[in-house]
Amino acid sequence: MYVAGEPSRQDLQELSGLGITGILGPASMGERAREAGLELYACGGAFPAGDHPPQEDLALDIRGRRQLWFGSCCPNHQPTRERNLEGYRAMAQAPGVSGLVMDGARFSSPASSLDLDSVFTCFCPRCMGKMDALGLDPERIRAGVSALYAWLREGGERPREWRGVHQWLDFRRICAGEHLKDFACIAREEGLAAGAFFFPPSLGRLVGQSYRDMGDSLDVIFPMLYPAYPEKPGDPGTACLNWELFAMGRLLTLGGAMGHSEALRALSGWMGVELPPPAQLRREVPRALVGKETARAIREGKPAQIVPILQLDDPKLEASMAQAEAAGAQALAFFAWEPALPGNWKQVLARTR
Ligand SMILES: [Zn+2]
Repeated sequence: MYVAGEPSRQDLQELSGLGITGILGPASMGERAREAGLELYACGGAFPAGDHPPQEDLALDIRGRRQLWFGSCCPNHQPTRERNLEGYRAMAQAPGVSGLVMDGARFSSPASSLDLDSVFTCFCPRCMGKMDALGLDPERIRAGVSALYAWLREGGERPREWRGVHQWLDFRRICAGEHLKDFACIAREEGLAAGAFFFPPSLGRLVGQSYRDMGDSLDVIFPMLYPAYPEKPGDPGTACLNWELFAMGRLLTLGGAMGHSEALRALSGWMGVELPPPAQLRREVPRALVGKETARAIREGKPAQIVPILQLDDPKLEASMAQAEAAGAQALAFFAWEPALPGNWKQVLARTR
């Protein structure tokens, strides 16, 4: 169970009594969790930008603007990556920690910031140099993503040439995978399990998270399957199925690349599930998507254990759980985004037993 903030000793005891076996949270909770008979998987972000990041640490979009996404900097900013790995080494030393979990090891998605343009990154000199070093074609990638941007955002023609875009997505996958593999080595050296929060597999290619690539390196992958994340001011709903798909719909329609029904057909085809029109999509996706994404994660993420993380305040939580379990999930995790647990968590969890 993932809880933002630090539940009290009493909360942890009660969670244990409700059949919860572990907590995903800060390393400082280790001892308290152990006392309650819970495992602690210590979580952190991958590329935290901090409070006042220098502009040059941030990702650069295809039109040359700096973009802060999910509180993160350019995924190839080496000092940030090194600091991050050192941070995980320190977390591993905290008492009571059974595993380490990395969040945000990826590139920006449509709902990773309030600005839709942050997805069109990263074209900073570091990343351009790295594309070249990896044997990719930085100029072809730049031209491909520039044409994609012009089509989606500037009223340009639909691109005829997509190889640059594919290389851009390959670049994302290679770079995110590198950092995750470095992280997994540290967990192994410390004798701990290595885990990561991942986008739903159907959206993973977009952000550079590949279940096929990472299944051998990670012990556990938590696909984030949040189907009905509520609207909150200033919160883009990053990684949530309803908000990511809603933002993709906006990308496809705002600049006139597609009409609304064409965009909906395209997104439904991509996800393999009939999606509702935008006004409903921003509120929720069909729960069948939880089952489909769980099955795909298990298929592609082997041999890593796949533990879908579900939204604790999902109004149809039982349906989402049933979908994930029918698709083969052996264990589930729950996500609660509140300063502490939401008020009715005991009733919610008791209902799910
Ligand atoms: Zn960069």
